[in-house]
Amino acid sequence: MKDTFVATEPWNPTRPHVLVVCCSDGRFHQPITEFVRVVVSDRSDLLAVPGGPVILDPWASSFDETRVFDTAFDLFLQYHDLNQCWLIAHEGCAYYRMKQPGLTDREYEVLQYRDLRRGAQIVANRAPHLAIHLRFARLVAGRISFEEVLVEPAARSIMHS
Ligand SMILES: [Zn+2]
Repeated sequence: MKDTFVATEPWNPTRPHVLVVCCSDGRFHQPITEFVRVVVSDRSDLLAVPGGPVILDPWASSFDETRVFDTAFDLFLQYHDLNQCWLIAHEGCAYYRMKQPGLTDREYEVLQYRDLRRGAQIVANRAPHLAIHLRFARLVAGRISFEEVLVEPAARSIMHS
């Protein structure tokens, strides 16, 4: 009989103040976990679903998927003392390739940036007290880099995108 595994991390009953929404793609979990621990908070609520932040917008995902987010978000807002929400999209997301096959990498990225910003708007409408942060996780030289995405795109970056 195998011994029961006991985590070495001590239990901390304090509720997290941060919600992170990201894709469930396991290739990104360790980099995302590291990013969150180092940059965001040593503990956060995590909602990991295929496509990540895309599920905030029913027109970009589906009403069923958005309902899952809405239920989870209501719970986090009601029972946890949230003050920040981080939305993290990632390069090469299979969700987008399944939803809209045949686009270029650049076109997928444009959709993902759009959906991050729509997600920010949706969170801001539902919970105006939350600070909202957007990131795009990109593979650069064998490591994952977390690019900041501005909630409001700068006029210059629109012209160049
Ligand atoms: Zn993904």
